[in-house]
Amino acid sequence: MLRKALNTFLGSHVISRGKLVFLATAITSAAVIIIYQGSSSSYTEDASIYVTPKQLEGNFGQVAYGQIERSPITESPKMSYFSEIVKSGDNVALIFKRWKIPALDLQELLDIEIHGAKLRRIFPGHKLNFLINENRRLVKLEYWPNLLHKIEFERNETGVFIANETKREPERTITYSHAVIEDSLFLSSQEAGLTDGLTMRLAQIFQWDIDFVLDIRSGDRFFMIYEELYIDNQWIGNGEILAAQFFNQKDKYTAVIFEKRDGVLGHFSPTGKSMRKAFLRAPLDFSRISSNFNLRRKHPLFDRTMPHRGIDYAAPQGTPVLASGDGTISTAAKTEANGNYIVIKHGESIVTKYLHLSKFGGDIRPGKHVTQGQVIGYVGATGWATAPHLHYEFLVNGTHKNPRTVKLPDATPIAVKDEEEFRLKTNTLISMLNSYKEEIEISTSGGRNINEGKSEAKND
Ligand SMILES: [Zn+2]
Repeated sequence: MLRKALNTFLGSHVISRGKLVFLATAITSAAVIIIYQGSSSSYTEDASIYVTPKQLEGNFGQVAYGQIERSPITESPKMSYFSEIVKSGDNVALIFKRWKIPALDLQELLDIEIHGAKLRRIFPGHKLNFLINENRRLVKLEYWPNLLHKIEFERNETGVFIANETKREPERTITYSHAVIEDSLFLSSQEAGLTDGLTMRLAQIFQWDIDFVLDIRSGDRFFMIYEELYIDNQWIGNGEILAAQFFNQKDKYTAVIFEKRDGVLGHFSPTGKSMRKAFLRAPLDFSRISSNFNLRRKHPLFDRTMPHRGIDYAAPQGTPVLASGDGTISTAAKTEANGNYIVIKHGESIVTKYLHLSKFGGDIRPGKHVTQGQVIGYVGATGWATAPHLHYEFLVNGTHKNPRTVKLPDATPIAVKDEEEFRLKTNTLISMLNSYKEEIEISTSGGRNINEGKSEAKND
């Protein structure tokens, strides 16, 4: 399983480390690809766990299914071939009807043990490839829940449908990347060749320590090691971020991936503390803000009116507002000053408040339990607000605290019994990251002064 795959990967890494070659660097940014020797054989097991559907999201448009089909459907003059990507509101019966394929054929498929039932659970984005004969009878159906997973239904010589399921493993390469932020996290990352999805995941790893809306400054930078996934030499997406280091102003944060005994994969500090904490630093979807805002031109922090006991995040109208921690909604109401506002109680001592919302999230109401990161409402300008923004307050035992600096309890570290395994595995990743960082810094010395010595390690 994954643990074994990761072991294999780390084990073989040690052997092949001397083969790593840094191919390219640039003054401000570099994305260096290192072909990982023998990686494909290391990952022949169960990538369905390792590759989440989210990581493959959006790839259907980039890689045609036909390109990853080893034996393409042969077309004969009497046969017709077509394909359909499942849309919202679709089901398999509707699709058969739309293509005028007899319901009888569908019933035959649905009656097939195990695999037949899977056709009842198709979702938007899944793909169906049909091969029909001149009488519009189904000859073959390929059902692709994602690019790596295919269920094939084909009539045998006696005309009975036989189902066959195949799962493919992507090949994984390890890629190193780094960027110095000049204008915005997302723009600088794009210049370094990263997708916004990957940048978002990088930011999510550090979102408990760094406020990505207010705290990012020009000159901040990051280094990371992550996987890229390929099918038949075609890029299909990014895998996990294996290790990353983020320099935010004077602080340095390091995160490394580790799979705990319960099989849950997470990111930890080099000393084994979970990166996840009880409260998010910025309770809103920062991708909507960071991607649009230029550090040189404007700052999303409003001028404050006194007295002001919270933080204002300027954000586009409709930006999702998130519960910063698990808790219970104690108020979801409207007043003249606050506009639409929400109060969440987190245990006995902590309360957070969210003001000026354009509207509340789906079923947000007093008494409702919410989890960290859940959308509770949307940025607006209701109440005493001149422009769309979120006013956010953080109270401890009734006293207002600065949510950007309030000391939060440390997250649970990894179990003592896992410590040795943790060190063994993560040390390799951390030294890989450090060697890469040194390479970059040597190649850029004489250019930007990186000032490593002035950075304070905040979490190792
Ligand atoms: Zn305010």
